[in-house]
Amino acid sequence: MNEKQRLEQAQINPVHSADKLSEKDNIDRIKNISSDDMIAKYFQTSYQPPDLKKARKRRREEVQFHYDFQIPEDVQLIGQGKKFLIRTYGCQMNEHDTEVMAGILTEMGYESTTETSEADLILLNTCAIRENAENKVFGEIGHLKPLKLEKPDLILGVCGCMSQEESVVDRIMKKHQHIDIVFGTHNIHRLPNLVQEAMFSKAQVVEVWSKEGDIIENLPKVRKGNIKAWVNIMYGCDKFCTYCIVPMTRGKERSRRPEDIIQEVRHLAAQGYQEITLLGQNVNAYGKDFEDIDYRFGDLMDDMHKIDIPRVRFTTSHPRDFDDHLIEVLAKGGNLLDHIHLPVQSGSSEVLKRMNRKYTREDYLELVRKIRKAIPNATLTTDIIVGFPNETEEQFEETMTLVEEVGFEAAYTFIYSPREGTPAAKKQDDVPEEVKKQRLYRLNELVNKQSAASMKSYKNKTVKVLVEGESKKDPNVLAGYTEKNKLVNFKGPKSAIGKIVDVEITETKTWSLNGVMVENTVEVK
Ligand code: SAM
Ligand code: SF4
Repeated sequence: MNEKQRLEQAQINPVHSADKLSEKDNIDRIKNISSDDMIAKYFQTSYQPPDLKKARKRRREEVQFHYDFQIPEDVQLIGQGKKFLIRTYGCQMNEHDTEVMAGILTEMGYESTTETSEADLILLNTCAIRENAENKVFGEIGHLKPLKLEKPDLILGVCGCMSQEESVVDRIMKKHQHIDIVFGTHNIHRLPNLVQEAMFSKAQVVEVWSKEGDIIENLPKVRKGNIKAWVNIMYGCDKFCTYCIVPMTRGKERSRRPEDIIQEVRHLAAQGYQEITLLGQNVNAYGKDFEDIDYRFGDLMDDMHKIDIPRVRFTTSHPRDFDDHLIEVLAKGGNLLDHIHLPVQSGSSEVLKRMNRKYTREDYLELVRKIRKAIPNATLTTDIIVGFPNETEEQFEETMTLVEEVGFEAAYTFIYSPREGTPAAKKQDDVPEEVKKQRLYRLNELVNKQSAASMKSYKNKTVKVLVEGESKKDPNVLAGYTEKNKLVNFKGPKSAIGKIVDVEITETKTWSLNGVMVENTVEVK
């Protein structure tokens, strides 16, 4: 889980010009705090706060597919001569949404920049998963105010998961009038219209739909790099883990049609991409919503197996829907890599029940046993939450023993963060913050130890590395990932970038490997 400022490819299109809001109008608006009337107007017309009961009554038949996305003619050139910057917080889903927004803005004539001072449009693509992620965004919103006062034509937008929360939208509208646009995760395709409205309107433009269900297929994308690509296979989540805000911010589970995914992956393969990662909050639920075909995630992976692309990954898996057919297909190997990220969240059946994960410790261990039987070399990594409300010392110890028993080689570990609107947030919690921090520390020590031990086993071995570029620390060193997602740094020719090469490991660390490239192993595709 990382946050990255995104470098996007630039592209210039010809122009259009129109009457713009005057500087004075803009400054007046920024200085005037919005009225409650205005907030009420937006909440009535376009915003409905997350409602768990309503969300659970989702109806599948409402899913509609749209293949006719177009940038409206009158906004096609609106960004000519202007620059955009998108700051992305949170998960891969957000990173990929940023690629789509960059694609849309590029088609509107905008060029990308990484310099805040150069940007004419800045979007904060936000994450709502934990409170500290939100605090960072509010900090950034505050930092942008002086820039907006200095440069009134600058358009500032907040989008992503935080925009789907009523309290966040309310706070922005009341306290941060320098933000011009707020839009949600279901409104990305509306970006051209929203930017246009912000340019010519005096009011804040807020468009957040709780209604979800549509799949917009042919949105443009500016992908980050040309070696690895994200491919969405489904949107939303219907699992309703009691701690998690995602089912509310991302809407119901809805799968893209297999033919659209296969076509996108084939196209990426033809363009020379070496690795794709299939994305969904719960990829194992893929296809459950199809009414006309019986086609699930195992079938999709089987079709991926037939495509001539060297590496296929997927994230994230929910243990509950990880079925035998999928295991059977993954065992075919080839381009289906044997690294499986399988979030467990807790090692205690009692805590898992309270989390509404719908599996027990024993179910999880049985699934791991099946995976290892079919794929003996499988590497498993996971997500774990410590300090879930009222987690006892014994329950936490059960997490520790499970981590050891499974032998996870890496884990994203989190302290539970209450999210407004989720059932767990209503629970009294008797675990002191200090105890939670201690538990996180102990868990991380164990995970680090296991990671270091797994790394040691690579000493003097040769691994296949997809070379992604130069190491951040030393431009003379190349860096890439093995099939099992281990970071490798090694000296080699720049011509190896974008290729899969053999590297002999000479030194192992806790989270990375050092090595030397085995000569003549640059695979030419
Ligand atoms: N859909 C994925 C799954 O079920 O494993 C994960 C999606 S979520 C973006 C990534 C991780 O954030 C979760 O696996 C969980 O460990 C963590 N997470 C979610 N809500 C959280 C909360 N309220 N507090 C702390 N961690 C949380
Ligand atoms: Fe959140 Fe659970 Fe859905 Fe993952 S499966 S996104 S943790 S509700």
